[in-house]
Amino acid sequence: MNDKLEGIILDVRDYKENDVMVKAMISDHGLLTLVAKGARKMRSKNAMALLPHTKSTFYLDYKEGKDIFTLHKAELIRSYYQEDIIKLSALAIMAKVAYDSYSQDRYRELYAIIDKCYEATLDHDILVILSFYLMKVAELLGFGAYVDGCVICDESTVVSFSAEDGGFICKRHLKDHQICDIGVLKEIRRVVKTPLSRMDFLDDMSIDHRTFKLLAEHFYHHTGQDRRPYMFLSQVLRK
Ligand SMILES: [Zn+2]
Repeated sequence: MNDKLEGIILDVRDYKENDVMVKAMISDHGLLTLVAKGARKMRSKNAMALLPHTKSTFYLDYKEGKDIFTLHKAELIRSYYQEDIIKLSALAIMAKVAYDSYSQDRYRELYAIIDKCYEATLDHDILVILSFYLMKVAELLGFGAYVDGCVICDESTVVSFSAEDGGFICKRHLKDHQICDIGVLKEIRRVVKTPLSRMDFLDDMSIDHRTFKLLAEHFYHHTGQDRRPYMFLSQVLRK
């Protein structure tokens, strides 16, 4: 049996002398570990299809209940790799978040988010897509941001966003937060409210570093996931 699976590569590691171990999110089967024998040898036919941030077709003998497989062959569908430190750091965040958010019972929804967002990195503002991605994954994990009023009292006039409280806040609940520009609040609402099926709503959008950071803080505060890739991007953005 030679099964043909499609998926996105989240992580690649050297394995044994000439092999490569790939962690890939597979559209119909979730997160699998794929071992490519001899992939580190020069001129390996599979090499291009086995890089991080790549969508590929994998040929293997699939068996229910197993999650590590030997690859027969891999073919590149699309590479999302970009020679830009901000874009590359954003892709690293996306891959790590996908990996850390994975669970057997919700991988189809997760795969749909990953697939659409990776595609969008090719021709959209990267911070818009990354913010959108984090908000969609947060929602999937049950940590969606509340943007229909103050997250504490539901007052409709809001003045800021509190990552710790999980959404918009009114003047009364501002505490030590800074008042946000109305434009920033609108950007946040647009990113949070746009459904995955209507990503075209984000086509002409760009986003401020600070707005992105508010949303990223929300994500990491509530999910508790490893924020090292995000810290790296923050440092890059500060320069
Ligand atoms: Zn309030």
